[in-house]
Amino acid sequence: MQYHECFAAAYKTARGKFLAAARAAQGDIRSFTHPEETAPDGGPLAIDVACFGDRRAPRQALIVSGTHGQEGFSGSAVQVGWLKSGGAAKLADGVGVVLVHGLNPYGFAHFTRTTENNVDLNRNFIDRSNGAPDNRHYETLHGDLVLAQWTEAENARVDAALERFTAAHGPDVLFDTLARGQYRHPDGLIFGGTAREWSNHTLETVVAETLAGAERVAFIDWHTGIGDYGKPFFLSFNEPSGPLFARACQWWGRENIDGVRPHGMEHPKYTGLVFHGVQRFLGDRPMCGAVVEFGTRGLGMRRVLRLDQWLRRQSDLDPDLRAMLQADMMDAFCPYDGSWRQATLNDGITITDQMLTGLAAWRD
Ligand SMILES: [Zn+2]
Repeated sequence: MQYHECFAAAYKTARGKFLAAARAAQGDIRSFTHPEETAPDGGPLAIDVACFGDRRAPRQALIVSGTHGQEGFSGSAVQVGWLKSGGAAKLADGVGVVLVHGLNPYGFAHFTRTTENNVDLNRNFIDRSNGAPDNRHYETLHGDLVLAQWTEAENARVDAALERFTAAHGPDVLFDTLARGQYRHPDGLIFGGTAREWSNHTLETVVAETLAGAERVAFIDWHTGIGDYGKPFFLSFNEPSGPLFARACQWWGRENIDGVRPHGMEHPKYTGLVFHGVQRFLGDRPMCGAVVEFGTRGLGMRRVLRLDQWLRRQSDLDPDLRAMLQADMMDAFCPYDGSWRQATLNDGITITDQMLTGLAAWRD
C-alpha cells in the first residue's frame, strides 16, 4: 500500500477517498452534514460513518478520525488504508466495525485543530451536570499565552513565561496545565467550550444508532503530535489497575501502554475526551481502547498550537503569509515527509488489525 493512495491534500479529497473505499468494501454508509458550516470552497462538511461486518454482533469496534481537525489527515489515511488492504472482508464472525471519518470536519477542512467555535473537541465531552472542571494554573498563564503578532520576539516572550512557570512548578505541572483542558477562555488554548459541540451531539447519535446491540466495544481515536517522530504513541484511559487496561496491554504490548510518558512527562489529567464521552454514551458496557498518536515535532508542537490560535484570530491576513504559515502547521500535524506518512499508514493498519484480533477473542 502506497501512502499517496490513502493520504489526501484537502478535506474534500480525503472525504472522497474514504467514501470510495467504504463503498468498495460494501460498507453501510451514513453522512451527517453540518447544518451551518461549510468548507473554505463553500462545499459541505460532514461526519461520515461507515459500518462493516455483522451489525448485530456483540463485539464492535469504533474508530474515529479528525477529532482534532487537521490531525484527521493521518487518521483518515489509516482508515482508507485499512479498507483498501481488505480489512473489512477479513473480519471475524461476531465482530463489526464502525469507522467515523472527520469527527471535526470544520477543523479538517479549514486546516485547524479546533472546531467552528474554536473548541478543542477532545476536551468538550465533560459531564456538564457537574459544572466545568477547573484549570487553576491556566488562569494565571492565559494572558501570557495570547500572541499579539506572529514574531520571534512574541514567541520568545511566551517561552520566557513558560520557563518562569516551570521554575516555580516543574515541567509536569506545566504540561498538565497546557494539556488537561480549560473552560473559561474561548480565545485560549485547549478550550473545551461552554456547551456541547455539534460533533459531540452527532457522535452520541452515531453511538446510539450503530452500537445499540454491542456488548463490548473496542475504540481508537487517531491523533498526531505526541511521541517520537513517525512512531505511534498510545494514551490509554482505561482504569490503570483494571481488566480493560490489561486487555489494551494484551492487544498492543504492555511496553507500549503501561507507564509510557508523553513527551517524557506525567500523563496530564485530561478532561472531556472523546474517549470519556463514548464511555458515557455506552453506559455500563465495557470499552477498551486508546487514543493513538503519531509523533511529529515533540514539544515543538507547543509553538504550533499557538500559531493555530493566532491564525484563527486574523481576519485580513495577507493570503501568501497565511498560506506559508498554514504549510508550516500542516507539516507539524501531518508531515509532508513521505517516509513519515508511509510509516504512519503501515503502523496504523497494524494497530487496527491487532485491536480487531483482540476484540474477536474478547470473551469474559
Ligand atoms: Zn490530537
